[in-house]
Amino acid sequence: MNYISTRNKYHISDNNFSKITMEGLAPDGGLYIPENFPFLNSDEVYKMANLSYTELFTEIIYKFCGSCINKSEIYQIAINSYKDFGSGDPAPLTNYNNNIKILELYHGPTLAFKDFALQFLSRIFNLFLDRNNKNITIIGATSGDTGSAAIEAFKNNPRANIIILHPKDKVSEFQRRQMTTVNADNVFNIALEGNFDDCQAIVKTLLVDKEFNKKQNLASINSINWGRVLAQVVYYFYSALKVLKFNKLKRVNFSVPTGNFGDAYAGYIAKKMGLPINKIIIATNSNDILSKFFQTGIYRVSTVVPTLSPSMDIQVASNFERLLFECLEYNPALVTEYMTKLNTHGSFEISKEILYQLNKTFIGVGVNDDITLERMRSCYEKNIIVDPHTSVGLQAACTANLDDLCIVLSTAHPVKFSSAVNKAINNSPSLPNKYKNIFTLNEKYKTMPNDLSEIKNFISSNSSF
Ligand SMILES: *Cc1c(COP(=O)(O)O)cnc(C)c1O
Repeated sequence: MNYISTRNKYHISDNNFSKITMEGLAPDGGLYIPENFPFLNSDEVYKMANLSYTELFTEIIYKFCGSCINKSEIYQIAINSYKDFGSGDPAPLTNYNNNIKILELYHGPTLAFKDFALQFLSRIFNLFLDRNNKNITIIGATSGDTGSAAIEAFKNNPRANIIILHPKDKVSEFQRRQMTTVNADNVFNIALEGNFDDCQAIVKTLLVDKEFNKKQNLASINSINWGRVLAQVVYYFYSALKVLKFNKLKRVNFSVPTGNFGDAYAGYIAKKMGLPINKIIIATNSNDILSKFFQTGIYRVSTVVPTLSPSMDIQVASNFERLLFECLEYNPALVTEYMTKLNTHGSFEISKEILYQLNKTFIGVGVNDDITLERMRSCYEKNIIVDPHTSVGLQAACTANLDDLCIVLSTAHPVKFSSAVNKAINNSPSLPNKYKNIFTLNEKYKTMPNDLSEIKNFISSNSSF
């Protein structure tokens, strides 16, 4: 399979899935996408309905790897990646009502859907690093969930050190402890005296610092990484095939609580591959740049407002460029023009014709905090406890009121956001067993000022092998 970049059609030929995955951003600053998406006819799609999660994973991922990896290697990675996702089904469905089902994606090691991608990424990185006998230093910024999922996935990895920056006092205590109580020599946490944007700015600066990068062999695991997006395609197939098979339906819809447009874009890939998805609801909180875009065709950034669903408190949805590239007929010059307009004017607008085409799949729904809380309460009346992100998705599904069955992605365990849950229902979800003693374990992290050279020194002195 060949890949191209959204910025200048930088062309990566077959056998280079490893390069796409390890590199993250293309050298021209664009994002990689396949030159052509694999397509399955209806018979081929339905045939996969009897596969286990790991078998299905193998079939789907293999189609994107070219001759880089063989099927048995992918299967082995799948087995290892998803061994720690609850006792049975890694992605179970529960009923909300006759027309809405909840897809629980929070049974992984850190209780959020990001485990699906990062457990895979750590193992695929290792496969490539082993082949080349190389070591790397992973560097990442987190507003909460990515950091813990990445640390859990890379802890004790013999080929990687991992350094995660989180904004000091701006992640929940549970989220911080998930990162700082991991007792592994290759894990380093920095509590930065600043906000999430400051963390991200430092990481971005380091990743484009060629000299430093070369010395330290830095790698990133952020949400534009193609491997992360790809791993998420699998649970769309898995859940849709379950309901298509058992309910004898022709098609399904999905509602996706989204911030960076990673998860939602994975759903779109599944649709392009032939999975009978009708609509994908883009459910946002009050940081509604994406839902507004799908309503109006105008993509306009404003300032981030803190909400009860902090993992979606994002303005610029970094994966969105992949969809934009397709809308603009794979014209990299136009993508560059639109992204430049975004940087200089804070917005751009697409034509009504393109918006009409996009709305055949995407519907945008924004949900504010009050309504998020209300939906959590009405869930609780049905004896279901959902986290605030899931509540946004659920509310959007109810608002959209579509004809066919809708699957809502439940992206985090409610215990991760227990103060919001408590605010809604005056009750706290109980801690899963493996986290029973998280509030008494020793923490390991370093508080540091928002200062690039100090961070560089810290990395240099800790990233040896
Ligand atoms: C990261 C995250 C999201 C948003 O996912 P994107 O792929 O960035 O759209 C939603 N919910 C939770 C709990 C998350 O951690």
